[in-house]
Amino acid sequence: MEQKIEQLKRDAAEAIKKTVADLDALNDIRVKYLGKKGELTSILRGMSKLSKEERPRIGQIVNEARSKIEALIVEKNEELKEEALAQRLKNEKIDVTLPGRQVPLGHLHPLTITLNRIKNIFMDLGFTIAEGPEIERDYFNFEALNLPKDHPARDMQDSFYITEDILMRTQTSPVQARTMQSHEPDSPIRIIAPGRVYRRDDYDATHSPMFTQVEGLVIDKGISLADLKGTLELVLHQIFNKDVGVRFRPSFFPFTEPSAEVDISCVMCHGQGCRVCKGTGWLEILGAGMVHPHVLEMSGYNPEKVSGFAFGMGVERIAMLCYGVDDLRLFYDNDMRFLRQF
Ligand SMILES: [Zn+2]
Repeated sequence: MEQKIEQLKRDAAEAIKKTVADLDALNDIRVKYLGKKGELTSILRGMSKLSKEERPRIGQIVNEARSKIEALIVEKNEELKEEALAQRLKNEKIDVTLPGRQVPLGHLHPLTITLNRIKNIFMDLGFTIAEGPEIERDYFNFEALNLPKDHPARDMQDSFYITEDILMRTQTSPVQARTMQSHEPDSPIRIIAPGRVYRRDDYDATHSPMFTQVEGLVIDKGISLADLKGTLELVLHQIFNKDVGVRFRPSFFPFTEPSAEVDISCVMCHGQGCRVCKGTGWLEILGAGMVHPHVLEMSGYNPEKVSGFAFGMGVERIAMLCYGVDDLRLFYDNDMRFLRQF
C-alpha cells in the first residue's frame, strides 16, 4: 500500500515536471490523481478494508502525498503563467525605433489660399477685416446702398428671398453700410469685407449661385479718385505681377459716382488676344468707384466733409486666373485629384 502511494506520488511529480506551457494538461493531472475519481481518492475509499491500526497511518501518508502533489501543481501553475506572460511580452514588444505611421495632412482650399493672399495684401496697407451676416436685411443689402425697392439695378442681382425683407446677401456691400453706421459720423474707415454671396444664377464654367467676394471701403477727409487708382493698381500688381497692365473704364453702379470697371491685361496671352480674354487682350477684374454722396448720407456721414472709394472683386475669378483654372465648378466639386494640386 505504502509503495503504491509512493509510486503514485513519483508518477504525479514526473507528469507535472514534464508539463510545458499548457495549463489544461496540468488540470488533467490534477483530475487524474486528486479528482473524485482520481487514484489517491480511490485508495482512501479502499481504506475500509484495512485494519484499525493501519488506517490512521495510511491515511496520513495519503494526505501527505495529496499535499505534496497539490503543492507541485500550484508551483508548476505559477511557472507556466510566468512563462506565458514572458512570451506575451516578447511577442507584443514595441520597437520604439520604428518610424511612426504617417498621418496624411490636408491643406488649405485654393479659394482660401487666394482669399488669404488678398487679405494679407490689404492688411499690409492698413486695412482691417470686417464681417457681416450672410442672411441680410433688404435695407442693408439694397436700400442703404442707394438701391430703393423699385430700382432697376436690383434685377441684375436676383437673390434668394427668405421673406419680403430678408434675403441671402447678393454682395458683401451691406458690410460697408453696417460699418459706417457703427462708426461715429465722419470718422475714417479703411476696411475690406470678404465673404460668400448668393445670387439666382446658372451653375456653369463661369457662374455659380454662391461665390466669394472681397469688397473694400475707404472713407476719410480728402479721399480722391487718385487714391482709388493708386490703391487698386498696387493691389493688382501684388496679386498678379508688376508687369500686368491696369485700366479703368467708366461704368455704372448705384452706390458709386463716378464708377469704373477695372481691367488687367490678359494674364494668359499678355495682351495679344486669346480665348480667355475673348480676343480683347483685357480681363475685367473688379468694379470700383467713389462712394455716392447718398450712400454716405444714409449712413450718417456728411459728403461735404468726407469722401471715399469702394471696390469689389470676385475671389473665384482671381483664383482661376492665378492658377489657370478654366472651370469655376472645380472649386466646389470636392474632387481630390483637383484639390491635391494646390
Ligand atoms: Zn488673353
